[in-house]
Amino acid sequence: MKYSQIFTKTKKQAPADEVSKNAQLLIRAGYVYKEMAGVYDYLPLGLKVIENIKSIIRQEMNAIGGDELVMSSLQNKAVWESTGRWSEEAVDVWFKSSLQDGTDIGFGWSHEEPILAMMKQYIESYKDLPVSVYQFQTKMRNELRAKSGIMRGREFVMKDMYSLHSSQEDMDKYYDRVIDAYKRIFDRLGIGDDTYITFASGGAFTKFSHEFQTVCDAGEDVLYISDDGQVAVNEEVLDDATEEIGIDKALLSPVKTAEVGNIFKFGTEKSEKMGIKVNTSDGGEQFVYLASYGIGVTRVMGVIAEKMSDEKGLVWPENIAPFRVYLTTIGQDEAVISQASELYKDLTELSVEVLWDDRDARPGEKFADADLLGFPHRVVISPKTLQQGSVEYKARTSTEVDLISIDELKNRLNLIN
Ligand code: ATP
Ligand code: MG
Repeated sequence: MKYSQIFTKTKKQAPADEVSKNAQLLIRAGYVYKEMAGVYDYLPLGLKVIENIKSIIRQEMNAIGGDELVMSSLQNKAVWESTGRWSEEAVDVWFKSSLQDGTDIGFGWSHEEPILAMMKQYIESYKDLPVSVYQFQTKMRNELRAKSGIMRGREFVMKDMYSLHSSQEDMDKYYDRVIDAYKRIFDRLGIGDDTYITFASGGAFTKFSHEFQTVCDAGEDVLYISDDGQVAVNEEVLDDATEEIGIDKALLSPVKTAEVGNIFKFGTEKSEKMGIKVNTSDGGEQFVYLASYGIGVTRVMGVIAEKMSDEKGLVWPENIAPFRVYLTTIGQDEAVISQASELYKDLTELSVEVLWDDRDARPGEKFADADLLGFPHRVVISPKTLQQGSVEYKARTSTEVDLISIDELKNRLNLIN
């Protein structure tokens, strides 16, 4: 794509009321637009990042048998009343409205109850189980505070998966497979080494629930981690957990973290309230086991922006960057343009996403934008590089600038084995 075709422009300043680093950078680089506190639009560049993150998650969810669907944002009050979660006392983040005829409706902050109500139509026998479904869906939550940029939105993209089983053992086994899939996802997203799985904080479900917490200064949670990184305990359950593991609290140090994922075993709790049963092999009936598995897609994007950035801007990993290559031409020399369009075509044909900065702007401005945008590879074509039969190359993570051949460029882009 050519830069001149993108409507967004980079900015020197973020909005004065934007305090978080992730949103400041993403707004300045033209990835997101702030509608209001906790509410962001994802612009073409930002959407590409979200799609790249989703694609990794989707592959891993499909690999463990997940079926993708999309559920509605408008939700049925009666479904939530069946488990007592329509009330504000039970759920403090509801957005609610009503239809013109006065019927109350809710805006989906979760789909645990709706998914069970929907599944009731399709599962009758133990033979219909297990079932595992997931979606990428925009959740709406009336969060009290929204100060962490896209890491805490009032409207945000979540991947939520739900698995239904006919036995505890089957649910337990699948839950462990999801944990492994989550580890692969966070590894592939480049935050695996900094992501810890912990018992969840607070609530009645602590023992049946795990959180995936990523070390991040802008995070809102605190983990206590051992020097070797083998033990990580949530602050809220510190005493209980250290006692259970048998480790001295004093050996753990606090670090700030962001909860990027959360998984729960509900067992039959919800299906009992909602009356969701299947026929068993011996002619009886039993309640269905449910587990649910979330990942905060837009929060992950915020965490990556926070962790993978420097004073100049964003520093995306290869597989998440909206474009792998930032190609820029200096001047409007015919030979320069012609070499650039050849390279652009060549790389595009090799499935490398290239943003060609074809704007007639000062080199300094273009380089500052290249750093702010944060694509992994910067390639410059100018009268000088032409003369030397080479292109100028800089990796976003390095300060070194090299004059290299097109073959060497392809080598650095891993196109030549
Ligand atoms: P938190 O404690 O951060 O409010 P939660 O326990 O409410 O999270 P879940 O309901 O389990 O979170 O949602 C699943 C995942 O969705 C979370 O692990 C997190 O990554 C993400 N998430 C939750 N709330 C938000 C939000 N307001 N903005 C962005 N992502 C969120
Ligand atoms: Mg919450």
